[in-house]
Amino acid sequence: MSCLFCRIVEGEIPSTPIFQDEQAYAFADISPKAPVHILIIPREHISSMRDADPSKQALLGHLHWVAAEIARNKGLTNGYRIVVNTGEDGGQTVDHLHLHLLGGRQMTWPPG
Ligand code: AMP
Ligand code: ZN
Repeated sequence: MSCLFCRIVEGEIPSTPIFQDEQAYAFADISPKAPVHILIIPREHISSMRDADPSKQALLGHLHWVAAEIARNKGLTNGYRIVVNTGEDGGQTVDHLHLHLLGGRQMTWPPG
C-alpha cells in the first residue's frame, strides 16, 4: 500500500487523531497553516474529487459534516475555512481525497 493517507488510516504511519468513525478519519496536519489545521479523509481510498463517482455523494456530505463538527468542538465560533485542493492546478500534493479545516485566524481572499 503506497498511499500515504491510506497508511495513516491503517496506523502504519503515526498521526494525531482528532475524530474517527466508520467512514472518516481526521488528524492534525503535520505542517499547520493556521492555529487549527486538521485533515478529514475518507477511510476508503478516493484519489480526488475528480475521481468521486455518484455513489460517493453521501460520503462527501459526511466528510463536510465531520469538518463542521470538529470546528464546533474546537470552538471556532467566529468561522473557519474548508479547502479541498484538487489535482495539479488545485495544488493537491497527496492523492487521497482530503478536506483541510483551517481556523483560528482571519483567512484571506482570494486564496493563492
Ligand atoms: P494537499 O496539498 O492539499 O494535498 O494537502 C496535503 C496535506 O497533507 C499538507 O497540508 C501536508 O502538510 C499534509 N501532510 C503530509 N504528510 C502528512 C503526515 N504524515 N501527517 C499529517 N499531515 C501530512
Ligand atoms: Zn489512499
